[in-house]
Amino acid sequence: MFKFDTLKAQTVKELKTGIKETLSTKYRELLPGDKHASILIKPNLNSNMNALTGNTTDLRVIASVIEFLKESGYLDITIGEGTNSGFYRSNISVIERLSYDKLAAHYGVKIKDFNYSYTLDVNFAKGIKAGVAKECIDAELFINMPKLKTHFEAGMSVCLKNLMGCLVGQPNKKKTHASLSENIVNLNLALKPHLHIVDAVVSMEGLGPTRGTPLKTGAVFFGTDPFLIDMLMTKFASFNLKKVGPIQNAVKRNIITQEHFDFVNNYKFDDTYSFKPPEAGPIATFIHHPVRQKYFLAVRNTPFFNYLCQTEIFGKILFATGLRQDVFIKDEMRFDGLSLNETACTNCGKCNDYCPVDIKLPESFSKGGASTPAGCIQCLYCYCVCPEKAINFHGELGFMSEQIRQYDNIIRKL
Ligand code: SF4
Ligand code: SF4
Repeated sequence: MFKFDTLKAQTVKELKTGIKETLSTKYRELLPGDKHASILIKPNLNSNMNALTGNTTDLRVIASVIEFLKESGYLDITIGEGTNSGFYRSNISVIERLSYDKLAAHYGVKIKDFNYSYTLDVNFAKGIKAGVAKECIDAELFINMPKLKTHFEAGMSVCLKNLMGCLVGQPNKKKTHASLSENIVNLNLALKPHLHIVDAVVSMEGLGPTRGTPLKTGAVFFGTDPFLIDMLMTKFASFNLKKVGPIQNAVKRNIITQEHFDFVNNYKFDDTYSFKPPEAGPIATFIHHPVRQKYFLAVRNTPFFNYLCQTEIFGKILFATGLRQDVFIKDEMRFDGLSLNETACTNCGKCNDYCPVDIKLPESFSKGGASTPAGCIQCLYCYCVCPEKAINFHGELGFMSEQIRQYDNIIRKL
């Protein structure tokens, strides 16, 4: 029997209360009996763009699940993700940039970048074997926690696509890219997370996964069948199911059954949205056509092209033509603290709603110079959402300046 649940939530309080309640009442039977069992939480950390852009899993959703597991007595919890290979190749730690390392330290749980994991081989299309992180196979409770977003190659990226981050490092990711939809399905047949929790608090529409637009959808979805959840997500987003490659592949292989279709057709969401589809520019559309993509990948995987990709000028050309979605800015952020402009603050409480670690805001901000509120994990969610720009950042924004350039106006209106 299928399991699927919806939680409507937007603030950190609603998320923490609602997620704990849903897990304890509807999914408790999935919890291991042994409190020392290894539990893996796999977010989507596709790039260094924070969750409010719609690109990566919200720290508040992860924090809610960790708090529930810790309150249930579990002692061996790991957050694990093999972040986007472009960042990994540029020696940029997405985990650190998104403050996931600080969140893990705050809760006393482990954090692992799968790009540096011990590998176990999995079979993919055309006889290819590629290595996935051993932690994904060993976990006694594997919780997949994707972000809901559009994806210009796969159509949508939810539960199925998120498992691509279990592949270790660029060489293993590369091996599977040529038959992307088929291999996403293969990966889901090999790794079977016990539970899927979709972060759709702020989703992404348009040219996802990294050049789309954030859309406040205010929901978290729970379930155990990733094929069913992804189908339901297309319904939630009023998205054409035929444009989602992995689902089409699973239909062709009879993995998706009539029961899946019946459940989806009968399920009623309270709210649905009309996500704008991911329409790539003309050059990217031409190159990524299934007939031509294999030639592009053959060129892209040569050492010379790899070298070119790492140069700033060529990177800018790729970004401008739409062939590359990400901007790999090398400058790290230097965080010297935050302070409050009391005159501008209207005491609306929005900063408080977004703080993943429940710092009392805005009263914990210094009223004078820079200071860091006790327990702050430096995620900058409060700074990014304040509608009045009343929170001052002290230091150097570094890579964050690009995110602010692209999304500041949208995020402050969320
Ligand atoms: S979000 Fe901005 S205006 Fe609202 S309480 Fe926080 S600091 Fe003040
Ligand atoms: S105070 Fe602001 S920067 Fe610090 S953890 Fe809370 S939301 Fe993040």
